[in-house]
Amino acid sequence: MRIVRTVADVRAAVRDARSRGASIGLVPTMGALHDGHLSLVRAARAANGLVVMSLFVNPTQFGPNEDLAAYPRDEERDARLAEDAGVDVLFAPPVAEVYPQGFATSIHVAGLTDVLDGASRGAGHFDGVATVVTKLFQMVAPDDAYFGQKDAQQVLVIRRLVRDLDMPVTVVACPTVREPDGLAMSSRNVYLDPESRERATALNRALDAAEREVAEGRTDAAAVLAAASAVLGAAGIEPEYLELRSPDDLREVARVAGPTLLAVAARVGPARLIDNRILEAAP
Ligand code: AMP
Repeated sequence: MRIVRTVADVRAAVRDARSRGASIGLVPTMGALHDGHLSLVRAARAANGLVVMSLFVNPTQFGPNEDLAAYPRDEERDARLAEDAGVDVLFAPPVAEVYPQGFATSIHVAGLTDVLDGASRGAGHFDGVATVVTKLFQMVAPDDAYFGQKDAQQVLVIRRLVRDLDMPVTVVACPTVREPDGLAMSSRNVYLDPESRERATALNRALDAAEREVAEGRTDAAAVLAAASAVLGAAGIEPEYLELRSPDDLREVARVAGPTLLAVAARVGPARLIDNRILEAAP
């Protein structure tokens, strides 16, 4: 595996692979790698001749009171894990390579970004995501780019971005990878002390409870959300949001009829965690 830090070097590696006929798979990450990230690498590895992972803690997607400074960083460990999982090129640019002096452009995907995490973290979050993903696509020019369904709203925003700007990239969404007790893997789980770690399992259990409610035929939003809410409440968790929305355009829904996104965000101890599930009404 090669580690490169400049746009010129990543482009050269991609050009070389293309000249050998390889397709390019890109896995964008902020590092602090876990099995969720590595599942994206495995998907990319299975479908592409060259796998590029970007490792960049993107400052523009963090709000002023968020954890940019504290975000876990360990490039040596990440490089080992990436190489073992089959990454060919690790693109780990410094901030100034991505945002040079005078950088002035921002990409805004309207509509999808003012609800859920956009409302809770501020619209600037998804502007930061859309801007850095656009830049990574320009730098790497991948055929396929891999994202986790754990960040369901992010996947929707990126799909819309790619469609609206005619980017020649196939967006591949991969299932959420979980710890054995159901907690969705996240780089932020390292913030959890043992007591918060235990309570954090309530997010997935709340999604389970909602799923059971639907399976038993109670499909109106109030009942589904109440079931999930009760599990969170029992763990002493007050969600930032707990909402049922259309998985295509994030419109709020009153009933689980077709596939419906149930999304939750909550602060658990020192960590802000998110999770989601697609609920389907029984036929
Ligand atoms: P991050 O480093 O948190 O920006 O995540 C990089 C990519 O990994 C994003 O596409 C995430 O959605 C994805 N990802 C993070 N956690 C998981 C998980 N538990 N399962 C699957 N994908 C994940």
